[in-house]
Amino acid sequence: MTRRPFIAGNWKMHKAPVEADALAEQLKRALADVTAVDIAVSPTFLAIPAVVSRLRHSNIGVASQNVAVETQGAYTGEVSAEMLKAVGVQYAIVGHSERRQLYGDTDAVVARKVQACFRAGLSPILCVGETLPEREAGQEELVCARQLEIALAGLTADQVGTVTIAYEPVWAIGTGKVASPTQANDVHAFIRSWLGRYPAFVARSVRIQYGGSVKGSNAAGLLSQPEIDGALVGGAALSVEEFVAIIKAAV
Ligand code: PEP
Repeated sequence: MTRRPFIAGNWKMHKAPVEADALAEQLKRALADVTAVDIAVSPTFLAIPAVVSRLRHSNIGVASQNVAVETQGAYTGEVSAEMLKAVGVQYAIVGHSERRQLYGDTDAVVARKVQACFRAGLSPILCVGETLPEREAGQEELVCARQLEIALAGLTADQVGTVTIAYEPVWAIGTGKVASPTQANDVHAFIRSWLGRYPAFVARSVRIQYGGSVKGSNAAGLLSQPEIDGALVGGAALSVEEFVAIIKAAV
């Protein structure tokens, strides 16, 4: 079975609604002829309604950058998966390293956010990956295994089969230091073998994106690796030219 490539752009805390709408319109035009790749963009919460509306009837889906653990209630500053679903969001990035490092998203919190996605009908893009000291200590597999084990606990095999996993070595995010295609593919292969604890269809169907300083010039090398099914793109997703080049490299 060949997995359909999936490229997602994480706009982080960039692009207020008017600018996000304009970027979405440019991408919609530039990518209209792409049929062989799943594509998503992830604006700030504030810009989600404008971008969803702009991308309706296009081949580009919308992801949130985070979700609340709870459905509704006295949770100041939070946005629930149910609310995101109600405005047309399809995917949610969960466990991004910036959330883990800056906002205290522990493995246990990430697990509850993954469950919140399934409760509401959003498809999680679950980020895992090691820090530089962990990589230097040779612990990348250990760290990814721990993050996966906790985040996916309690899900059915059918649910796990629909999760997208983004392998994002923290030392490669926003640093310009991209993992080599072989370094990335090795960890992807490990993640796929870890998925072997589920029935075989799970490891065959789960898409594993690479994330960390992906750009037009290095995308082909990464995406040609057998275990790399797509990319989660940060900085380069803010440039139409770069994001389109990455998507064309996946075709
Ligand atoms: C990210 O934030 O998920 C990311 C991969 O960022 P960048 O592409 O800028 O390294």
